[in-house]
Amino acid sequence: GDEREKLSYPLFGEAVRELAQTIADDGYEPDIILSIARGGLFVAGGLGYALGVKNLHVMNVVFYEGVGKTLDMPVMLPPVPNVVDFSEKKILVADDVADTGKTLKLVHDFCAGNVAEVRCAVIYEKPQSLVKCEYVWKHTDKWINFPWSVEPTVVRREGQVLDA
Ligand code: 5GP
Repeated sequence: GDEREKLSYPLFGEAVRELAQTIADDGYEPDIILSIARGGLFVAGGLGYALGVKNLHVMNVVFYEGVGKTLDMPVMLPPVPNVVDFSEKKILVADDVADTGKTLKLVHDFCAGNVAEVRCAVIYEKPQSLVKCEYVWKHTDKWINFPWSVEPTVVRREGQVLDA
């Protein structure tokens, strides 16, 4: 079989609608969607429209490679949203994939206890994830090619004649 899980933009459009339908069917009505940049922005935007949620927030999480190759932990980049603003709020954390689940665990634990409720929604979840997301579009153990990160960054083209 294919070694990669491939998501195209058209398939993402279907996936995010189906994910939203699952959340609606479950009766969860989040006040705020908290996206994890950058991949989670696509998911959060799609879920926001599909669920009619206009209050979207962003958290930036990066991995720092520690001394020695085994250390691999996610770190929040400032500015970090003030959880005091989220007390009494039902939060939906949105990301593209839960792989090790460390990123989602960091954000989930950051919210838990400070907000009314927090649940997680992802397009993909892998079996090793230490966070079991409430809402998952598809389970896979393959490496995923996302449409937004499968292509290299664009570079400036030289020698283009723009005006005749
Ligand atoms: P975590 O291991 O914390 O669950 O995932 C951290 C981040 O690694 C994800 O948000 C995503 O950006 C990246 N990542 C993990 N698995 C994959 C994958 O299969 N494909 C791609 N393109 N990125 C991944």
